[in-house]
Amino acid sequence: MTPRVRARTTALLAIGGVSAALLASLLAAPAAPATPAAAPASAPLAGMVIALDPGHQLGNSNPNFADKIAQSRFNGYETKGCNTTGTETADGYPESTFNWRVARYLKVRLRQLGAKVKLTRDGDSYRKWGPCVWDRGEFGAEVGADLLVSIHADGAPGAGGGFFIFVPSVIDGWTDDIAGPSQRMGRRMLRAMADAGAPVSEYMSPPLVVTPTLSTLNFSDVPAVLVELGNMRDPGDAARMTSRDGQKQYADWLLRGIRAALRR
Ligand SMILES: [Zn+2]
Repeated sequence: MTPRVRARTTALLAIGGVSAALLASLLAAPAAPATPAAAPASAPLAGMVIALDPGHQLGNSNPNFADKIAQSRFNGYETKGCNTTGTETADGYPESTFNWRVARYLKVRLRQLGAKVKLTRDGDSYRKWGPCVWDRGEFGAEVGADLLVSIHADGAPGAGGGFFIFVPSVIDGWTDDIAGPSQRMGRRMLRAMADAGAPVSEYMSPPLVVTPTLSTLNFSDVPAVLVELGNMRDPGDAARMTSRDGQKQYADWLLRGIRAALRR
């Protein structure tokens, strides 16, 4: 399908949840004039700015950048490092690359629905490093985002599969302005992704984790969530995470979650 057709299909699928009565009244309504301004249903995210943070970077393990990666900073709760290389599948497929590809697919889908999308990094390369988690966190406010979504995958051998979501707890002077909305958006996102078929974590209970420990969330001045899309050490999740169709599936699940978070 062309991008335009795919966007329309997505919009049509999104009305699957309305009642039969409402659907009937919608269908009975007179046709709207065929002008772009009169067709907001095709651009439900118009006016929204989404900051996507594909976690980690391949070059974080490059010795040339050891000094950069060794930086640390207090995050309101504890002092943590700049960034890490992330986890990987049993076969060595890097989390950094998975996060990057999902973010790229998701960016296309969000833009098809009218959103502006900004990414915290511009590639996935052994010749690049970072940015540090504090810069990722501050990025949302820098680009005027309505929501910062940090995309990650977990690495827990033998634990099972499925996704879970981290949201910030209240830390005075740090997250007291964004903890409430972040937690509400995270809850809506979790429900929408699960409803869309994303497997919920078999080992993280509850799957919405309120935490003071994550720098990316604590440094954010806009509502922020960090999604662990699955467990790279789980064979079933790993198979989905390393295939192109699987990565697109994760992007589609995130899209459903973001729309629910923003009530769009
Ligand atoms: Zn990660």
